[in-house]
Amino acid sequence: MIYDVLIIGGGAAGMSCALVLGSAKIKPFATNKKIGIIMHQKASALQTGLFNNVLGIASGTTGIELLSRGKQQLKDMYPHVDQIEKEKVQAVNQESEFIMVKTNKKQYNAKKVVVAVGPSNLFNIDGLMEYIEPHEKLPVAKGRIQLKNNDHLVVENIYVAGVLAGWRSQFAIACGSGASVATDILTEWNNGIPTMVHDKVE
Ligand SMILES: Cc1cc2nc3c(=O)[nH]c(=O)nc-3n(C[C@H](O)[C@H](O)[C@H](O)COP(=O)(O)OP(=O)(O)OC[C@H]3O[C@@H](n4cnc5c(N)ncnc54)[C@H](O)[C@@H]3O)c2cc1C
Repeated sequence: MIYDVLIIGGGAAGMSCALVLGSAKIKPFATNKKIGIIMHQKASALQTGLFNNVLGIASGTTGIELLSRGKQQLKDMYPHVDQIEKEKVQAVNQESEFIMVKTNKKQYNAKKVVVAVGPSNLFNIDGLMEYIEPHEKLPVAKGRIQLKNNDHLVVENIYVAGVLAGWRSQFAIACGSGASVATDILTEWNNGIPTMVHDKVE
């Protein structure tokens, strides 16, 4: 089985990307696409955060609540998106016809990959090390990193999303980055026609 898109990281950017991709299921160009997310959450910045300044999220909400609600929302609304639990990615390698994603337990093949693992300087994913550079929008003293990218694209079919894409660390920015990558992928699936997914009150 080959994923059409495999998202790496179950934080703000990764889950936002998965929700927008999942919501396109009803569109003919996305109906048969196989989407997965490696739902690793242990290392998310959300683990220790408290959220009072995010539009639409009740003040006092903890990041831990957001992590579990995000997973549940994805499961309830878009169950066709595979949530791969308890695995951590070790390598992302471009093979001739697909991208090979290796975790501590298994190996997956994908046509496109979205890397949304946060800006830690402990980043250690074989195949992506050559794209690391110092983060341009976080305090130098923190030693954070980003992946070189052009509007989220690292190299053909490999995207980066969230703070690792070079954005400042705010929840809404990370979510927006993940959603932005999702709409880029949907646009490509839709033959280059700029694509968004909007639900409407009947
Ligand atoms: C203490 C604290 C308080 C904060 N408070 C606020 C606030 O009040 N308002 C606000 O807007 N923002 C706040 N933030 C910032 C916000 O949490 C981040 O901007 C946001 O979570 C970044 O999203 P991300 O998806 O880029 O990274 P993350 O949410 O960190 O997600 C990265 C994900 O990748 C996973 N991962 C890592 N390595 C691997 C691997 N090898 N394989 C697979 N998965 C992997 C991690 O487990 C994690 O789930 C706060 C952050 C902290 C730390």
